[in-house]
Amino acid sequence: MNFHILTLFPDMVERGLNTSIIGRAVGKGLLNIETINIRDYTLDRHKKVDDYPYGGGAGMVMQAQPIYDAWQAVAQKIGRKPRTVYLTPQGNTFQQEMAKDYAKEEDLVLLCGHYEGIDERAYTLADKTISIGDYVLTSGELASMVVIDAVVRRLDGVLGDEGSSVDESFYDGLLEYPQYTRPAQYRGMSVPDVL
Ligand code: SAM
Repeated sequence: MNFHILTLFPDMVERGLNTSIIGRAVGKGLLNIETINIRDYTLDRHKKVDDYPYGGGAGMVMQAQPIYDAWQAVAQKIGRKPRTVYLTPQGNTFQQEMAKDYAKEEDLVLLCGHYEGIDERAYTLADKTISIGDYVLTSGELASMVVIDAVVRRLDGVLGDEGSSVDESFYDGLLEYPQYTRPAQYRGMSVPDVL
């Protein structure tokens, strides 16, 4: 599976996804993570990607042009319109079912906002808007990493010996059972006899 992340902070995403299970899965060639720096696509000679909001209000808004052009570069590269998600606190709350669904895709584009968000006209690129919870983050990179992590765990061969997603919470709508490891006694607390 190929993840294409449209971002202003490629380093943050690359570093965040380079460890543990995801890092090893990339190493094994089970998935590919590509970051696309939206700033590389601005036509502004000062490399600006944001501007003041029409009608006033606090903060800056990401302009539609660099986002559109960055997205189009990805679409052109893979030769078709890829499934695209915009991360926003105003989106649908991310659920395990969505992770399962996205794991069937060959390509998934994740668009990360910053500042006060993106020009509403760039929303048209997204098939879906996703929120990772009812709180506001500084930018969409952490949210995109959350989505990627949950999707990657559903890809064949990724979990290997480290565990199977079949036993995990939400696999079949239930939560996982309590788990214990050695020692059998710890600070007066015992592992249940049945185990
Ligand atoms: N002005 C926006 C609002 O009030 O809804 C918040 C913008 S936020 C400071 C900047 C960016 O962070 C958003 O464009 C989005 O990409 C990302 N973001 C913030 N919170 C998020 C959340 N809960 N889920 C997903 N993305 C989020």
